Amino acid sequence: MKVVVLSGGVGGARFLRGVVDAVDPAGVTAVVNVGDDLEVLGLSVSPDLDSVLYALAGLADEERGWGRADETWNALATVEALGGEAWFRLGDRDLGLHVVRTQALRGGESLSTVTNRLTAALGLEATVLPATDESLRTWLDTPNGSFDFQHWFVARAHRDPVDRVRFEGAASARPAPGVLEALHHAELILIAPSNPFVSIGPILAVERIRSALERRRVPCVAVSPLIGGEAVKGPAGAMLHRLEGGTTPAHVAQCYAGLIDALVVDEADAHQIDAVGVRPIVTKTLMRDAASRRALAEAALDAVAFA
Ligand code: GDP
Ligand code: CA
Repeated sequence: MKVVVLSGGVGGARFLRGVVDAVDPAGVTAVVNVGDDLEVLGLSVSPDLDSVLYALAGLADEERGWGRADETWNALATVEALGGEAWFRLGDRDLGLHVVRTQALRGGESLSTVTNRLTAALGLEATVLPATDESLRTWLDTPNGSFDFQHWFVARAHRDPVDRVRFEGAASARPAPGVLEALHHAELILIAPSNPFVSIGPILAVERIRSALERRRVPCVAVSPLIGGEAVKGPAGAMLHRLEGGTTPAHVAQCYAGLIDALVVDEADAHQIDAVGVRPIVTKTLMRDAASRRALAEAALDAVAFA
């Protein structure tokens, strides 16, 4: 089956592992957020693409939730000791990937081309694409000022309430090569249980990706990142509350108005599915191991049967 999955970092990566377990990975294309990308220590870092690559390659640190397993931090400790920029955590193994990507980008390669090479080098069968090769950066407007994503999320620990999310560069950003083709050939489009505002939002801010979803002829199914009205991790709950007025399945569905046909919600939220507006699929959505990831993916993939 040909499936496209729109994905952010951690939640998206966990879900993608379930998807490639449930269907032939060769038919799976991940379209990944690049709004969090940053330059740090002279290196081009794409945190969500890396989370997806590491997860699919079985290299991710599942406990920490980001970066690589068996990581060491010698380079960053040296950076700090020498008075360098050390607020953004980069492990030694992780750094190796950033060096390769940075050299490729400096040499004129596109982000999608180098991501393709990394995918092949890691032996992955699934296709991993950045939403766009062009610069698209997420900004948060808060009562305490405007911050780019990583300064808001990492440096300020996403403490500032968000009044508005902006995507610098989105208006002119074209989908990366392969994105529209994958959407066109997909039998099913999935939106991972990623943050709707800062992980999926930047992908949908690329006009031609959004319009491809609006004009889809196959089902699109989103998985809610909330369990019992709260994010498993991170600011999704607080953002839904402030920006959409609540954290019920209907509020999650509202983030994807006109773009989805079904929403997968957790059993803990089943009592609130009445006004959701799209077909609700109720199941257990906590991805704590391979079996639960796969079961969640299968619940979403089953939507094809209802089309
Ligand atoms: P980021 O880019 O690393 O912040 O990751 P994502 O946006 O892809 O994922 C963050 C979201 O994943 C959060 O809103 C979490 O609530 C959600 N999430 C993480 N683990 C799970 C899980 O096991 N089940 C569900 N339903 N959501 C999850
Ligand atoms: Ca992210």
